[in-house]
Amino acid sequence: MIWLSEIILQQTRVDQGLPYYHRFVEKYPDVTSLANASLQDVLRLWQGLGYYSRARNMHRCAEIISEKHNGKLPETSAELIKLPGIGPYTAAAIASIAFDEQIPSVDGNVLRVISRLYGIEDDISLPETQKEIKKIALNLIPADNPGDFNQALMEFGALNCLPSRPACNDCPVNKNCDAFLQNTQHRIPVKRPSKKKRDRFFNYLVVTIRNKYILQKRKKKDIWHSLYEFPLIETKKPCPPDELHLPSCMTKKSFILKEISPEYKHVLSHQIIHAAFFTFEYLPDKKNESFPESGSLYSPEEIEALPRSILIDRYLREKII
Ligand code: SF4
Repeated sequence: MIWLSEIILQQTRVDQGLPYYHRFVEKYPDVTSLANASLQDVLRLWQGLGYYSRARNMHRCAEIISEKHNGKLPETSAELIKLPGIGPYTAAAIASIAFDEQIPSVDGNVLRVISRLYGIEDDISLPETQKEIKKIALNLIPADNPGDFNQALMEFGALNCLPSRPACNDCPVNKNCDAFLQNTQHRIPVKRPSKKKRDRFFNYLVVTIRNKYILQKRKKKDIWHSLYEFPLIETKKPCPPDELHLPSCMTKKSFILKEISPEYKHVLSHQIIHAAFFTFEYLPDKKNESFPESGSLYSPEEIEALPRSILIDRYLREKII
């Protein structure tokens, strides 16, 4: 279960991740039950947490552990890191906490604490700076209870050595802290500004046929892979309805544009999605009743069971389910 909590907490706050942790433990109490679940069910349970590659990797990881490791997690960081979704930080956290391996797990909190303690003013987003900090952490970590050391250091960063207001006056190590002694704690750690987020414009086609909606599974290597959504046309800028290149089947008289939603904005770590939902009414054409889209038809009840992004879920809850 340490593995599950580490995966959930990779990009999520504890208060946000905790209910998901409980739901997963209840539904999939061991690795084998998770491996035997369908990816669709796992994604549905993960819905709302974001960074869906974590759920896909966790499911794949459970399958590998089940098939190749008799349902048991490998016990060393070197073996753990070979599994999908387990990077150096997670491998070290699991190996030190669950199996007492003497290896530091260096997250953003640890990078901040060590860079301040040692007065490191190099950019902490650079691999060479992180390597230097890991080396320092490796020298500090004890052989006894290395997991406790890792957790204490992360916790210290999260509660005391805060990014903007470190509690230096009450800090038990302030006499040994280079940043405190030099009064540089407010400019350390140094981090280059993150890149500007990319704007993307999603135009969703909401088509109802006999009280069912057309939805399709995202297949491209992109955000929200394997989640369900309405047929999508992506454009480089906001798209007026007359400039939308609809699929050829929809230019017929059978599909009448009824409504265009206001913009739904959804902010992700590296991109901002500007979505508009174009609602079409379908007027049955006796000669040609089929809708040759790549999606399938789903009733509102069936849609409930499908994994989907927060953006699509927001629209569905406001308008459909
Ligand atoms: Fe962090 Fe301040 Fe303590 Fe240094 S003295 S480790 S900057 S809380």
